[in-house]
Amino acid sequence: MSQHFLQSAAAKTLSLAQVFRMSDADTETMFRKIRWPETNGAPVCPHCGGSNGYECRRPNGSLRFRCRACVKDFTVTSGTLFASHKLPLRGYLAAIAIFCNEVKGKNALALSRDLGISYKAAFVLLHKLREAMAEEMKGRVVGGEGKTAEVDGGYFGGYRKPANFVENRVDRRLARHQTGKRKIVVIVRERSGNSVPAVFKSEAQAMSFIRARVAKGTVVNADEATSWDGLHGHFEMKRINHEQAYSMDGACTNWAEEFFSRIRRAEIGHHHHIAGVYLLRYAQEATWREDNRRMSNGDQVARLTGLALSRKPSVDFAGYWQRHLAS
Ligand SMILES: [Zn+2]
Repeated sequence: MSQHFLQSAAAKTLSLAQVFRMSDADTETMFRKIRWPETNGAPVCPHCGGSNGYECRRPNGSLRFRCRACVKDFTVTSGTLFASHKLPLRGYLAAIAIFCNEVKGKNALALSRDLGISYKAAFVLLHKLREAMAEEMKGRVVGGEGKTAEVDGGYFGGYRKPANFVENRVDRRLARHQTGKRKIVVIVRERSGNSVPAVFKSEAQAMSFIRARVAKGTVVNADEATSWDGLHGHFEMKRINHEQAYSMDGACTNWAEEFFSRIRRAEIGHHHHIAGVYLLRYAQEATWREDNRRMSNGDQVARLTGLALSRKPSVDFAGYWQRHLAS
């Protein structure tokens, strides 16, 4: 019997045990090589771009550099998503390893228990990792001539708990009994390729997004929902009626369904609530996990660390709790 990829040795190249066995020097070298790949880890000043920095550690021993050109100090995380970091570097590496190993998602409370950090610190750190993942999807266009893509939508949020007594219960399917908070995640997914998610109030609102993110000449698969009818003028379409079959004459949305399977499990099993302002971030996380699912966990950690270290400080989350507690 052939072995599943995730069970193979090739899938498991970095364990949490290895991360914790790494010395401070090992961790520093790893971060330096990921931050400054073009100089093989030699520091490049984020203030002036000079490559004439030297090690000038803080009194507590933590790694810091000083630029000979502009005489400013910087660290391996200055000017990145992990700027002004509070945890030791190994803590970030451990967080990223835990986050990648937990293939459906990781919630902030569990991470705070794993790493002995506050819930707030874990919440912000996880959202920064989602921001880093989203970086890869900026402006991404999928498909092309001879390629096939799938489009589908799934609803999240707006749950209304049924009343205790049956006589007080209402028909939750009716618009007037809904909270108005329900949103739809739309995924466009190239078969054997990459994906892009977006969040809308309804499937019909997704038309211009799909046209912008799916290249001309792509064969687009969708289910029978009338909201996708508008795509026929732009793409060669294959429609599948799920009341008849999940796959017929080459038409199916199974790749898109895989994405929803993963994000649903993240919602139900890990986060319990992913709707609201950060729904897109959770969708981007599930997309990244889907698209990189056949990559070894060591490569995933290196890739995500690289994304975090090449991204500017977080717009949403730098000083998040300071702002939120003040208001
Ligand atoms: Zn400088």
